[in-house]
Amino acid sequence: MHGASDFCILFSSPRQCLSMSAPDADLFLIDAIREGDPTAWRQIIERYQGRLIAFARRRLAQSSEAEDLVQEAFLGLLRSLPTYDRERSLETYLFAILRNKIADFLDRQQKGQRQSLDQLELDDAPAAWVQRDTPSKALDRQEGLAAQRGALVKCLRSWVERCCDESRFQELMIVEMLVVLGLRNKEVAADLNLTETGVAGIKFRVLSQWTRLTQPENVQHDWSDADLARESSLGQIWRNEGISCPKRSTLGRYLLDALEPDWRGFVDFHVTTAACERCCANIDDLRTEDLADREMTERFREKCFASSIGFLSRPGAS
Ligand SMILES: [Zn+2]
Repeated sequence: MHGASDFCILFSSPRQCLSMSAPDADLFLIDAIREGDPTAWRQIIERYQGRLIAFARRRLAQSSEAEDLVQEAFLGLLRSLPTYDRERSLETYLFAILRNKIADFLDRQQKGQRQSLDQLELDDAPAAWVQRDTPSKALDRQEGLAAQRGALVKCLRSWVERCCDESRFQELMIVEMLVVLGLRNKEVAADLNLTETGVAGIKFRVLSQWTRLTQPENVQHDWSDADLARESSLGQIWRNEGISCPKRSTLGRYLLDALEPDWRGFVDFHVTTAACERCCANIDDLRTEDLADREMTERFREKCFASSIGFLSRPGAS
């Protein structure tokens, strides 16, 4: 796992969060929000609003549309907190809700329909996680699938971490070229100055590593070449969960040009060539962080807060 120091966050007030890893701090805040703590809710909004707005702005014409959808995404998070899975990364969860909101918005826009805030669907959980099956479908089947998916995501993340620790960035890049960019062996070989046989050999090695990692975790899957493709379910999970996304602190060091050359090469590939939207949004946010108009940031935070505070659970209520 990551070292806690990598995640050191500069929270403005709760002292407890200062030395926590980002995921731990998120869980700490989530628990507080579940207890009805409005300060914790404000902290979550403050922490994620910048990168979410930057993400939405990349897809929408008007910045007011981006703000509205981010506001809806926060509301969606609060409403789906009772079913929030603590194993999942909050950032991934928020980006998934926002991605759904944007897709719905663009869909409605195309159909020339409008929807107001009070017409929100009750189920704000990202569709990718809670399958939009008919209610009659067995719940335990869904839970079984969600658990498998969660275990798979964990295995893949640990594989990525190991690649990074051991500077095996070429393997990571090849996987991204296949499952994010949808390149074929021949194209990967040409881009990386390898032979096609060389690429096939690396793919084989990656798939054997995944087999070894997933077997003890009860992930029922026969890994094959077909998994290493953009249209595969692995490809979809890889992109949606941001499996290979560097930490925000790493993106910050990338901006400061303070990364080791091989790390910089990978991050550069990930944000420039693979054009990861989530990391680009984080970078946009980090770039403007210092310049950001404090007043505007606070105004937006308060707007999100005011529109969602009614959904905060009260202590004692369940
Ligand atoms: Zn990324």
